[in-house]
Amino acid sequence: MLLWFRQDLRLADHAALGAALETGRPVLPVYVLDDAAAGEWALGGASRWWLHHSLASLTRGLDAAAAPLVLRRGETVAVLAALAREVGASEIYCGGAVEPWARALERRAHDGLAARGVALRRFRTVTLFDPESIRTQVGGVYGVYTPFSRACFATAGPKPPTGAPARISSIDPPASDRLADWGLLPVKPDWAAGLRASWQPGEAGAQAALARFVDGAMARYAARRDFPGEPGTSRLSPHLHFGEISAARIWHAVAERPGAEKFLKEVLWREFSQYLLWHHPALPEAPLRDAFARMPWREDAAGLSAWQRGRTGIPIVDAGMRELWQTGWMHNRVRMIVASFLVKHLLIDWRAGQKWFWDTLVDADLGSNAASWQWVAGCGADAAPYFRVFNPVLQGRKFDPDGAYVRRYVPELAGLGAAYIHAPWEAPEAALARVTLGVDYPRPIIDLAAGRARALAAFGGLTGGH
Ligand code: FAD
Repeated sequence: MLLWFRQDLRLADHAALGAALETGRPVLPVYVLDDAAAGEWALGGASRWWLHHSLASLTRGLDAAAAPLVLRRGETVAVLAALAREVGASEIYCGGAVEPWARALERRAHDGLAARGVALRRFRTVTLFDPESIRTQVGGVYGVYTPFSRACFATAGPKPPTGAPARISSIDPPASDRLADWGLLPVKPDWAAGLRASWQPGEAGAQAALARFVDGAMARYAARRDFPGEPGTSRLSPHLHFGEISAARIWHAVAERPGAEKFLKEVLWREFSQYLLWHHPALPEAPLRDAFARMPWREDAAGLSAWQRGRTGIPIVDAGMRELWQTGWMHNRVRMIVASFLVKHLLIDWRAGQKWFWDTLVDADLGSNAASWQWVAGCGADAAPYFRVFNPVLQGRKFDPDGAYVRRYVPELAGLGAAYIHAPWEAPEAALARVTLGVDYPRPIIDLAAGRARALAAFGGLTGGH
């Protein structure tokens, strides 16, 4: 039979692989690169970089288990059907997806393969729980995070994770593409140096990140997770997105430790985001709250570009956007700050921010990205109230009090003391340490108070005040 790897690039705790092995029949592992299937949600540049290295890691793992991975590129259903014919397989096992386009692909694959006498069987490899199984008392879909998370905590929890098989009985593999020929890595310019320095994609890297977190930052997670200058969070998000580690393994690794509850609540935000996408497939395209369809978003190409390049003149925003560009990741607190600045102060449509994150994040995830952007914009399921407009200066002072984070990513300002680093335009000449605003570092592209007032007027007009 074929084992079709998708967003579950691991060998340990892989429900489809486990079930395939239980049949006792030989298993041929395969990955299909189908550039067209995802439409406008095709992988962004940072995700392609990660995918390359994750597949290289999976290939090594499967080689060690004596079951080489077959790589094929093309239209998924045709590729799977051809492979099944080549090796005489009558069954394909895979993990089920959450993304609308991937679910549609699954249905096409299921029907197209059935017509050729090949059965497609799906297993849950992405989420902790079956999104259909978490229901309100009257059988409805949760729209708010807190009761959803309570319902998750009230279950018996995910099943304990299984280990990776030492050996997989396989067959002589048919021809495979060469990973290097897929062009997933940037060529010119090579913008991936910061990514290489920051990450170890693949199953071993995922397990190492979990171990590092459990032995280190986890003990002070609740207190320090909001401080971007410190290594206070797990950095597991890209590993989770590509399925290099199962959410159940993370759950069981932390559940009995002090501080587990706060961390598991964050893991359940991921679960909630997948759940929302499952039940609201239009989540990345349309606001969950209908009134927001009338939002008077501004067209502001210059503002959007300044935001993308980390040149807004607001240090914490620019530090976040540069961290994203350099490393493919941004601290959660700063994601909220930059998103709020774009959507509220600049009044730019959240979908433009979502798209930029999609292209630049190594953890770009359709559910988490869309749910989080809608949350910040105020149009989501469990949204922040529209009148809560983050003040980026106060956020910076509170969560980066000594300015270490800003100094790391905005080196132009490294000479400024903590008193002015989050608002250099307030600094007297002497404190600017030879920085000329408007020359070495931009002046703010917007007056924060005016931006806030404009946002309140626009959002208030929409909802009729509060
Ligand atoms: P930790 O704090 O260690 O949390 C552990 C895990 O819980 C994370 O790896 C992640 O899988 C999950 N998690 C934590 N917070 C959230 C959250 N708010 N929503 C969903 N899952 C969460 N996360 C993504 O994985 N992909 C995205 O594309 C994404 N886009 C975002 C866009 C915006 C505007 C915002 C505000 C947040 C976004 N997030 C996204 C959520 C969050 O910022 C990241 O999951 C988190 O920063 C990852 O770092 P970590 O692994 O160290 O998190």
